[in-house]
Amino acid sequence: MLDCLIKDARIVDGTGAPAENGDLGIRDGQIVARGRISEDAREVIRADGALATPGWIDIHTHYDGQVTWDDQIDPSASHGVTTVVMGNCGVGFAPVAPGGERELIELMEGVEDIPGTALYEGMPWGAWETFPEYLDFLASREYALDVGAQLAHGSLRNYVMGQRGRDQEKATPEDLARMAELVEEAMRAGAVGFSSNRTTGHRSIDGNPVPGTFAEEEELVALVEAMDRAGSGVFELIPASTVGNLEVLGGERFSLKEEFELIKRLGRACQRPVTFTTVQVPDNPTEWQDILAGSAEENAAGGNLRPQVASRPIGFVTSLDTYHMFQRRETYLKIADLPLAERVREMQKPEVKAAILKDADAPVSDVGAMANVHNLMRETAAFVIPVGDPVDYEPELSQVLGARALAEKRDVADVMYDFLISEGGCAYAILMGANYISGNHDAIHTMLLDPHTVTGLSDAGAHVNLIFDAVAPTYQLMHWVRDRTRGPRLPVEHIVHKQTNNNAVLYGMHDRGSLELGKRADLNLIDLDNLSLGALGVHRDLPAGGSRILQSASGYLATFVNGVRTRENDADTGARPGRLVRTNLA
Ligand SMILES: [Zn+2]
Repeated sequence: MLDCLIKDARIVDGTGAPAENGDLGIRDGQIVARGRISEDAREVIRADGALATPGWIDIHTHYDGQVTWDDQIDPSASHGVTTVVMGNCGVGFAPVAPGGERELIELMEGVEDIPGTALYEGMPWGAWETFPEYLDFLASREYALDVGAQLAHGSLRNYVMGQRGRDQEKATPEDLARMAELVEEAMRAGAVGFSSNRTTGHRSIDGNPVPGTFAEEEELVALVEAMDRAGSGVFELIPASTVGNLEVLGGERFSLKEEFELIKRLGRACQRPVTFTTVQVPDNPTEWQDILAGSAEENAAGGNLRPQVASRPIGFVTSLDTYHMFQRRETYLKIADLPLAERVREMQKPEVKAAILKDADAPVSDVGAMANVHNLMRETAAFVIPVGDPVDYEPELSQVLGARALAEKRDVADVMYDFLISEGGCAYAILMGANYISGNHDAIHTMLLDPHTVTGLSDAGAHVNLIFDAVAPTYQLMHWVRDRTRGPRLPVEHIVHKQTNNNAVLYGMHDRGSLELGKRADLNLIDLDNLSLGALGVHRDLPAGGSRILQSASGYLATFVNGVRTRENDADTGARPGRLVRTNLA
């Protein structure tokens, strides 16, 4: 007797094998039968040709805080994700000395733009100190999906070296020994990886780069060697110069070329896989190609370098209720706290508009990464593209706001102002920040097809008011498999493989990632013809009233985690079969 029988699905099993029509049998949380199944089942689901895929594995998230207060883990859970990996980019919440949460919160707030008040009030500070204790705390909780945690260099250095770590001082031999010991301990306790930040653009809200940003090679080598001793874990990093030269912040210390040489040396110093953010940015429009080629070469010689790529341009959103170029104007600040509808009404008054347009920006008191976002929004106002419904993610560059301003012979700021207060203040526009230099998805196409890359970079749970790439797993099926018109599409088998088995293999999660017999029954049933994304919306549902942008999906008929149905027709069933994943114990 099966627990559940899914009849007549179009099975795309995650291995990359061609799709086939058939049934799937689930028992005790596993896929136990496949093909034409006659065995009885407690429950029969008629898929009627819907797509059956493994659950998505999102390896680049920042849910480190949210997993301590929330069990639903949205937005990921509502987009078919069944396993998340967090603790990326060198920021996390363990280890932490008693009373030492402030530095970590300020880092997470500055680097990942997660509201600090939500982290102070939402997290049960004091429930852990060491990384193994953090894992044990997470293991006591139940979620809508599985959660894997990486140890973050920033928290580790902060814990071991204190102020010296935050001041980027060189680690002493004692520091190195202690940090290495804690890395090994974390991996042995089931951390799925270790992460480090090397870009000076990632800063705490007080303006300090993440501890470890300037770590000497000797320190990084000591830490990856410690992973090796434990025999598990992925080394994840965001290299210096990934997002450009950052001249405005004093410049990056190393070029991307130098960083890639370092990555190769680190990969050779350990047997661990290395994955690192790889995007196309204006400062380095072609260097990503050298990195893909260099990784292929290194891997042919026995390496395991996995450039981590995105399935769409990384877009920064501007809207009246999130970030925009007028947010520090003197006149705007006087009405900034009004409810949206009232704020729009005020801003419609010609005298208010005139004042805001001519105002100077009020100085900011902190210097963190997000404090000057209004400057970025102002400088890039001409290049943002209004978000339509449905959203066109591969728009012609002629749709930029600057083109509209030119055609109407108006100032861009004037056009932006009217745009922001249109649709009751709910109009959104996107700046395609990375992967869109040539105004199409050709670079992304190459990145996704490359056999050495892994699909990631959703940043789910972070940049909650600026980026909404947590929906990327849904988006890529729609765009890359079904809708793309401006260039070649990608086979469904390839896109599914990249978001499932490929990521499972990287993280050593061998019990999941495909619909082969004996694997965990983590799966999605998807109505691909009708799969769609909802409108963007600002929700004030974080602890302490913090806001975030969310975007719903429709077309997920069902999602199963460990054989239990967590979603049905795009709604949460309330089931919480998700647990902490510890990879080295498998
Ligand atoms: Zn990140």
